Amino acid sequence: MTHESRKPVSDKALFDTLHKVFGFHSFRPNQENIVRAILDGRDVFAVMPTGGGKSLCYQLPAVLLSGTCVVISPLIALMKDQVDGARANGIRAAYLNSSLSPEEQTAVQQELLSDSLDLLYVAPERFRLEHFQKLLGEVNISMAVVDEAHCISEWGHDFRPDYLSLSALVHLFPEVPVAAFTATATLKVQQDILHKLSLRNPLLVRASFDRSNLFYDIRFKENTNTQLVSILKSNPGKAGIIYRTSRKSVNETAALLKTKGFRALPYHAGLSDEERRRNQEAFIRDEADIIVATIAFGMGIDKSNIRFVIHADLPKSIESYYQETGRAGRDGEPARCTLLFSQSDIPKVRFFIDTIVDETERAKALATLQKVISFASTSVCRRKTLLDYFDETYPHDNCKSCDICLGTREVVDSTVEAQMLLSAIARTEERFGATHIVDIVTGSRNKKILDFGHDRLKTYGVGKGRSKKFWRQLIDELLAQKVIAKSEGLYPALYLLEKAVPVLKGEKKLEIVRVQEPKKTKTSKAEEEGSCDHNLFDLLRSLRKEIADEQNIPPYIVFSDRSLRDMATVYPVTGEAMLSVSGVGEVKLERYGRRFLQLIGRYREEHPESASAHEKQSSP
Ligand code: ADP
Ligand code: MG
Repeated sequence: MTHESRKPVSDKALFDTLHKVFGFHSFRPNQENIVRAILDGRDVFAVMPTGGGKSLCYQLPAVLLSGTCVVISPLIALMKDQVDGARANGIRAAYLNSSLSPEEQTAVQQELLSDSLDLLYVAPERFRLEHFQKLLGEVNISMAVVDEAHCISEWGHDFRPDYLSLSALVHLFPEVPVAAFTATATLKVQQDILHKLSLRNPLLVRASFDRSNLFYDIRFKENTNTQLVSILKSNPGKAGIIYRTSRKSVNETAALLKTKGFRALPYHAGLSDEERRRNQEAFIRDEADIIVATIAFGMGIDKSNIRFVIHADLPKSIESYYQETGRAGRDGEPARCTLLFSQSDIPKVRFFIDTIVDETERAKALATLQKVISFASTSVCRRKTLLDYFDETYPHDNCKSCDICLGTREVVDSTVEAQMLLSAIARTEERFGATHIVDIVTGSRNKKILDFGHDRLKTYGVGKGRSKKFWRQLIDELLAQKVIAKSEGLYPALYLLEKAVPVLKGEKKLEIVRVQEPKKTKTSKAEEEGSCDHNLFDLLRSLRKEIADEQNIPPYIVFSDRSLRDMATVYPVTGEAMLSVSGVGEVKLERYGRRFLQLIGRYREEHPESASAHEKQSSP
């Protein structure tokens, strides 16, 4: 095979394809650069967050270039989803993997050999095979893509040995661009991927990790079940994930929600393969609204219309919290991430950490936990803290989309209370942990206090007037403000840092920011953008589900939530108006447009007031 010489692609062809095939009106950040680099024949390595729109970066060139784009992808479920999605847009796409019968595999190979595929998805296990590489040698390959490229790195969290064979890509295709994409790459993983793939002077893209459509909210966990029910009631019929740490709590929560009338299903590694598959499928197909799951759930889920993720227990790390909440709002529509946080969840995690034998591993686990606690218990913008974790500085003072930034804050002078704690720590020679220090200031008469004679300390009982919870929170705050620190090891003791001295001497005030729960009436930036005619939206959603079932594909492949919301905002009644809706390209218009137009037309007749209100608003 010789590769055809590259024909330059005009701007018009680029934007026409974006519009007509994908139904999009503009590129998301970085997409255009990447697409142009690939069209110029250049290798690409791009780190973009979940929902950043990585697929378009190679699917668009795949449509424009002659020949087939080979995509190496790690999971059968992901391949199927991508192929269903591409086909719904009229792109000639197929996958080759073990889920196909021998006859089906032959048919796909036939399509490949007759140059009738724009996209071919394969697993690394297949790519490795000599006869498969030989087959690729016989056809016209336009480009090669490594999706979920972190799988190639031993430093990544889901390393796949078969991905190592991908180092052959640049030799196998010396003349076509190779593009690698991932959502999770620390700088170390990034270096490793670049090294292993030996990309040739690639365009390097590191997008912002900010997911601006996600609202972050941390609430004090008091009564988990009541709080969950109340959150679900305010999100009727929306798709969401509730994460819990144990299988037992997953089962209990799912059962409780079912008795309350919610369409909720459990998911954890203790269920049979069959039941897990069934529950996941029901969720993907909008037949169950809620999945209650351990962290076993999520990999390989491309469902774009997840509207909320709730962590009912402490997440394992900031990184996993980011990944798990990241599954919400892939379609760019507003979504809510709520963490129910309680100090009383900490000992459970500590208990497991304490069983780690290896000392460095244990210290690492403790530091990870401490970061989660300080994320949940300080009053810094959630978005800022998350991005900080990825060494990214959030450029704004107020993100307008987290509980901190939307809450009413009051600054409280807590110098006197802080002095009580600091003095108790100092007078017990920095040898005791938080529980004991709180026992001292609250004047507890437990055995440990009496044994040590701590009831004779000057600070004993000075803080009786306030609850233990108050003092625990103040300790968290002092830890977060780096006034005190905690020693490592099995029984961590609190000790004073430099900043404690001026506070103790009364030379410096200690202020804490208290946040009142945001009022119901306040809507976040993300939510404001999400308004539309909800009655129509629900009708459109039912029609989407009906069509999805007829075609045996997930509803979000038919149209995204974004597309439906656009329709429920502009009330299109002509094909042309329909094409202005985000995500409606020519093929989808032809396939599904008529039924949606009919529904909207009928709705407008029955509700003339709603559509005319819209027209008044949008006319100049
Ligand atoms: P990633 O693989 O980066 O997680 P996807 O490629 O699955 O993200 O895209 C996420 C969602 O964003 C999809 O629903 C996709 O249709 C949508 N999308 C991608 N590019 C655009 C765009 N330019 N305009 C509007 N929506 C887009
Ligand atoms: Mg992807």
